[in-house]
Amino acid sequence: MSWITQKTGIIDHHRDTDFGTQPVRTKHWMIVYMFQKTNPTFYAEVKDLIAKGKLSGKLGIIYGEEPIRLPDGKFQTPRANGKTKQIEIHETFLSYLWCCTYSLYVTFLETIDYPQCNFHAGYEVFPISEENILIAQEMFDYARHLIVDFTVWDKDKMPNPERLLAEKRIYIEQTNCFYTEAVKFILCHEFTHLERHLDQINEKTTTSNYLEFESEADNTAIDKMKEGMSYMPIPLAQSHRLAIEIGAIIGVLSMLFFRATTEGVRHPNTEDRLTNVIERLDLIDNDAAWAIACVGLKFWDSQFGHNFEWQENPNSYKEEYYAIIKQIKAREK
Ligand SMILES: [Zn+2]
Repeated sequence: MSWITQKTGIIDHHRDTDFGTQPVRTKHWMIVYMFQKTNPTFYAEVKDLIAKGKLSGKLGIIYGEEPIRLPDGKFQTPRANGKTKQIEIHETFLSYLWCCTYSLYVTFLETIDYPQCNFHAGYEVFPISEENILIAQEMFDYARHLIVDFTVWDKDKMPNPERLLAEKRIYIEQTNCFYTEAVKFILCHEFTHLERHLDQINEKTTTSNYLEFESEADNTAIDKMKEGMSYMPIPLAQSHRLAIEIGAIIGVLSMLFFRATTEGVRHPNTEDRLTNVIERLDLIDNDAAWAIACVGLKFWDSQFGHNFEWQENPNSYKEEYYAIIKQIKAREK
């Protein structure tokens, strides 16, 4: 475990017991662990659902060096499999999610958080790195590329959770924290489908039933994660709360980058899911999570050329968030 205190040189987390081929494989055991620990009573719920035959005891990670989009145009996004009772999640989707998380978080730090800190301090507390901003952009480009085409994640050149330079570990390790929470949100959502919805689905299930199931799965996932938050006035509890909030928001944001529109058929519109999740988290007005949501919307804007009107230096990212949502809504009419 010498990597814990390692300050220079390469840290390689790969172990022969890892499953999978993509660098995100080093976190597979951690996502299962974090999911089971969602809140103090959740592990008992998981065991109970397995005992009832409604949940497989094994997370269904699908391996394969292939893009998320299948030849028929469908996406291999996470789902609850009614036959096997497994929560299925493709390893390429997990790579995509880690890269999205890295790029959203680092862009937030380097373009919003650090400049704000420097402005309030009156001097440069955190130097801004154009190189880091560029790398974050390249990570987003790689993530969205994985949707349509699979190319190998270059562990020697790109940030990744498996092989890293100790000198550059901070952004990677912070990304790991948000990534495991983002996966937790997705797994809790699918868990709810297996627990409550899949055995209700038949030929009579209407679109509005599906929409209700989706909302209930999002709400339950947030509620379960909130039950795992500590409100003790200590830094560790505060940073864990922030990780849960940002992770859950990234879990929904990750669904945004698949299409130019947010409209769903059997899912609520993505912007409505996002707003619902954010509001259910009871964020304070200047919570970093509002700004992260704005960074995600801005990425989506430039990805599909929506040209929304953005304020130069918004006073509040909560206001900015609702101003952009209003523009998305206005174009849906
Ligand atoms: Zn769902």
